[in-house]
Amino acid sequence: MKIAVLKEQAAGESRVAATPETVKKFIALGAELAVEAGAGVSASYADADYAAAGASLGDRAATLAGADIILGVQGPDAASLAGAAPGAWLAASLNPFGAGENGGRARVDGYAAAGIEALAMEFMPRITRAQSMDILSSQSNLAGYKSVLDAAAEYGRAFPMMMTAAGTVSAARVFVMGVGVAGLQAIATARRLGAQVSATDVRSATKEQILSLGAKPVFVENVAGIEGEGSGGYAGEMSPEYQAAQAELVSSHIAKQDIVITTALIPGRPAPRLISERQVASMRPGSVIVDLAVEAGGNVEGAVAGEVVTVNGVKIVGHRNVAGRLAADASALFSRNLFNFLSAFWDKETGKPLLDDEIGDAIRLTKGGKVVNARLTA
Ligand code: NAD
Repeated sequence: MKIAVLKEQAAGESRVAATPETVKKFIALGAELAVEAGAGVSASYADADYAAAGASLGDRAATLAGADIILGVQGPDAASLAGAAPGAWLAASLNPFGAGENGGRARVDGYAAAGIEALAMEFMPRITRAQSMDILSSQSNLAGYKSVLDAAAEYGRAFPMMMTAAGTVSAARVFVMGVGVAGLQAIATARRLGAQVSATDVRSATKEQILSLGAKPVFVENVAGIEGEGSGGYAGEMSPEYQAAQAELVSSHIAKQDIVITTALIPGRPAPRLISERQVASMRPGSVIVDLAVEAGGNVEGAVAGEVVTVNGVKIVGHRNVAGRLAADASALFSRNLFNFLSAFWDKETGKPLLDDEIGDAIRLTKGGKVVNARLTA
């Protein structure tokens, strides 16, 4: 069983899908590991450390030659996987609903045509036994933390209240919209920095979590369609009445905030628009908004992916791949997710992983030359 670890090709991708630690663990399972030279450099993992862990280092062709499993952070296109074994698995974040270079349906069709069995790690079901395999959680947690540091870096004032001989500096007011994994970490990070934090979500279950982190919940009450829980613990789309009430509540709250972090996502759909241009204009100059959903269409009107734009003195931060801005930790957690996944299914007799139906059906996009995932064929 040969496992190939590729150097990421997507622009701006700094992460790597295996670290020397997980290489060692895969070898202990009986696998042979091939790492493309330089794969870990942008995440601070040197070739020599992979070699010391037992991997062979080589160019892309040597890495892929006869590989049974290919690990990636983002899915490379099928043409760049030539040389892998027939029916090889590709385990990565494959972004089949995305557009442009790093995802999309055409890319999935390419895997099918090339006979690759493509496994979309971001489709991992939200069940207890798969928690340790969940790349969305591990990466969102880091993105939530980094979003607050990015906001602090752009903000021309301090976060904590400071009483000095020259006078008092007041605490920053931080509002977190969307309290999933990223939002919870953003709340905790802003609190640690000494900000006054409030937060909102469409799922009422998050109220308790917001309170437990010492922040103030800001919630729409008594409106039809209030319970925003969709399937699998994710949010669903909200009723028009709810959206109107939410917009009104947000308008009055947002004008008093210094920092807003938005994290709201709806799986398989564009991100919900939470902040309008008018609401941005209601904030005082020097305020900062970080849109963590910018690559999914954006929660904030005027946010631009990959840029920090200033509108009426308000900075809107739209960094791409925020987890990748903490490349070493993001890679370590992503790699462990991949190891936890493959090792959980490792069959000692055959020396290969065998997926069960619950997880296999959820994440498998292609097999035997066909697109097989229900989310893509429905
Ligand atoms: P997500 O990234 O899909 O979305 C981020 C947050 O935005 C969610 O809390 C969502 O409710 C919220 N949101 C969506 N539309 C909104 C709107 N219009 N206004 C305000 N907020 C909006 O969410 P996530 O981080 O993946 O977490 C979703 C849930 O799944 C959480 O309860 C989390 O704890 C749970 N979860 C479970 C597992 C597991 O069991 N394996 C793993 C990860 C997360």
